[in-house]
Amino acid sequence: MKNPEAQQDVSVSQGIRMMFYMMKPNETSFRTLEDVPNYVQKATPFFISLMLLELLVSWIHKGKPPGHLDDALTSVSAGVLSRLPSLFFKSIELTSYIYIWENYRLFSLPWDSPWTWYLTFLGVDFGYYWFHRMAHEVNIMWAAHQTHHSSEGYNLSTALRQSVFQIHTSGIFYSPLALFIPPSVYAVHLQFNLLYQFWIHTKVINNLGPLKLILNTPSHHRVHHGRNRYCIDKNCAGTLIIWDRLFGTFEAENEKVVYGLTHPINTFEPFKVQFHYLVYIWTTFWATPGFFNKFSVIFKGPGWGPGKPRLGLSEEIPEVTGKEVPFSSAASQLLRIYTVVQFALMLSFYEETFADKAVLSQVTLLLRVCFIILTLTSIGFLLDQRSKAAVVETFRCLAFLTLCRFGHLKPFIPSLAFASEIFFSICVAFWGVRSVKQLASGPWK
Ligand SMILES: [Zn+2]
Ligand SMILES: [Zn+2]
Repeated sequence: MKNPEAQQDVSVSQGIRMMFYMMKPNETSFRTLEDVPNYVQKATPFFISLMLLELLVSWIHKGKPPGHLDDALTSVSAGVLSRLPSLFFKSIELTSYIYIWENYRLFSLPWDSPWTWYLTFLGVDFGYYWFHRMAHEVNIMWAAHQTHHSSEGYNLSTALRQSVFQIHTSGIFYSPLALFIPPSVYAVHLQFNLLYQFWIHTKVINNLGPLKLILNTPSHHRVHHGRNRYCIDKNCAGTLIIWDRLFGTFEAENEKVVYGLTHPINTFEPFKVQFHYLVYIWTTFWATPGFFNKFSVIFKGPGWGPGKPRLGLSEEIPEVTGKEVPFSSAASQLLRIYTVVQFALMLSFYEETFADKAVLSQVTLLLRVCFIILTLTSIGFLLDQRSKAAVVETFRCLAFLTLCRFGHLKPFIPSLAFASEIFFSICVAFWGVRSVKQLASGPWK
């Protein structure tokens, strides 16, 4: 029998508490996997509210926003991209877990016991620590995880900068739990572990006193995002910092942290953010002589090279001065406003697509996903001032009008259908003229 709770929305109280892992076992224990709510999908309003709160606090305390708009758009863009596959496929983390549970489990812990709940909390967090540590120490896993570290800012939007294919590298670390913990309990904690890590991506919280001995805090995670030499591969914890303290990867925040990759990628294009490092591994693989060296390119650390230790040499990590200026877009103020408007419209289609997933045809679903990807790409091109940006944006606005005409897309507010068609028609005309001028006179500036 289905648990009626699963069909209900998450209450405001639960929504706030789930962002901090403050849920009780009796309200988050479910008999079957189908009963488990999609907490992550339901967290969107809480993500937005906390980001607005961070903006307000930062404005009051420092007189400026917590980060750059172009960087935040790129982070949310990566978050959107990373969740699109779930419209078509079941989570690989869950399917592999269920396979082990159904075929190889040794015994079954009771799904409704608080002891199972607490044990799973510890087990998932322990699995996350090792997954995350390996994501920094194994080059092919780093190719996915580097997306999360590619922001040169540090604020709540950074938490949403997620990899499209990281999920394919994490399941193995949780698989021992499938020998005795029911999938429904695992699915709950997998989500809360992820949600907990949202609020620690902020500079507006300084010190949490004795809590920092046990919990992963904003200060600990700031170190994790640093590219200072003392920060590299440190503080890999999810919820509990005790794993880093136990296994020797803990480092306290003791000098100004410079955020981002040791070699910044200087782009806002979503596909480069996601896949640039895979291309780097591919070229390094073919350029490195010897079978065992090629093997090491894939499975040793990102800093490894022939003759070096597994994790590379720390003296080869570029030193930071603390005066580094994060990469920012050269786009005009007006163009930035335009990208924000288009991004907000895309988010409304994105949310609606997830909400209506069950009733949409596969064709509509696929066309909407293509439109969302095209929008993210075009915004990246506009922010990067790419020479093809006007052509791509013209095509995207035309695609919007066509999809609306054939009923595959509809404006978020139905009464604004006509207004949005006018708006996108003006966009087609504007970007179309820019495209023609650009094609006639070389790269657009
Ligand atoms: Zn990391
Ligand atoms: Zn992070």
